[in-house]
Amino acid sequence: MGAVRGTRTGVAILGSTGSLGRQALEVCEWFADTHRPVALAAGGNIRLLHDQIRRWKPEVVAVYRRSAARQLRQWLHAEGSTVKVLEGGEGLVEVARWENAEVVLVLVSGLAALAPLVAALRTGKKVGVGNKEALVAGGPALRQLLKTAPGALVPVDGEHSAIFQCLMGRRHEVDHVVLTASGGPFRDWDVGQLQRATPEEALAHPNWNMGPKISVDAATLMNKGLEIIEAMQLFDLRLDQVRVVVHRESVVHALVGLRDGTYLAQLGLPDMRVPLAYALTHPQRRELPIGRLRLEELGRLSFEPPDPDRFPCLQLARRAAELGGSAPAVLCGADEVAVRAFLDGRISFLAIARIISRVLEEHVIMKHPTLDQVAEHYRWAMHRAEQLVKEGDEEVRPCRPC
Ligand code: MG
Repeated sequence: MGAVRGTRTGVAILGSTGSLGRQALEVCEWFADTHRPVALAAGGNIRLLHDQIRRWKPEVVAVYRRSAARQLRQWLHAEGSTVKVLEGGEGLVEVARWENAEVVLVLVSGLAALAPLVAALRTGKKVGVGNKEALVAGGPALRQLLKTAPGALVPVDGEHSAIFQCLMGRRHEVDHVVLTASGGPFRDWDVGQLQRATPEEALAHPNWNMGPKISVDAATLMNKGLEIIEAMQLFDLRLDQVRVVVHRESVVHALVGLRDGTYLAQLGLPDMRVPLAYALTHPQRRELPIGRLRLEELGRLSFEPPDPDRFPCLQLARRAAELGGSAPAVLCGADEVAVRAFLDGRISFLAIARIISRVLEEHVIMKHPTLDQVAEHYRWAMHRAEQLVKEGDEEVRPCRPC
């Protein structure tokens, strides 16, 4: 410890108050001798951001919600703090480009990550990306940018970090990749049970500790569907090169199938701090104070195919990937609203897929949308999904206890 300030790697964390962001700061505690968070950005949780500012003394912070940014400025002013407080989407972009940050972690969820992700990719800095929606919705324009970005791009999503690690130096030998899915909390439920599933039950994920949106996505398997498209985007793969297998133990994070029939897999205990740490230290690894995998204690690892009838979201994502262009953006936008409506008790669990399916059917695909157009399609899908939730026909209403 005790390295001279300024010789440490500057880190920008977008989404520092979210589940991934808080874990990233935990990793920064472990790496306090080598890494220093210099820029933080949050949506609107300024109480936690305020604590983080006191702990880390960053040079700059950004708050997406403008009223919250104003409130934070008042608190900091009253304390005589000089930290710069930016606001809105442009504030997040400025944090993504912050000069003293050599590594940028984009951990914001939803479409709000798209502009800062694009900005960070263009700087040539190392970018760790833990957002799914922007990668998926970004479509062909973002895929092109990912291929030509001047800096290193390190995925933070567990499965994609695993593929990234297996692929090192082997990009041209890949036949396909296999994403593992825990199956979520409802993996053994029948359709009748799924119809009555509550938000509390959906949030109780058996293996991973995650935010509410992604937890519901894990329960519908939309999370895995988005990860299929995410893998296509990150590793420049076709849809038929990305397979999914249900693996309850969440120990094998992904496999890469090579041309000659060889499989490489990455294994470890399910802990998001591992891929976060790897994004910070890549291409090196550091010792981490976490539990170690003991296969002899696990006894066995299981693998089974996902059930498309009970989990139609996986098929919807494949359909959106097939359609391409603006379809993945529409998939994400509709999912965001449908998941929120389910969490608010406005629609049933199974209605999430019905709403997304209807929005996707109505959408007229644009084959090569620009990044701005992608955002428009995303917002159209959110709006259309919201209308369908409000119409609230029998198909989507939550099941009341009889
Ligand atoms: Mg994942």
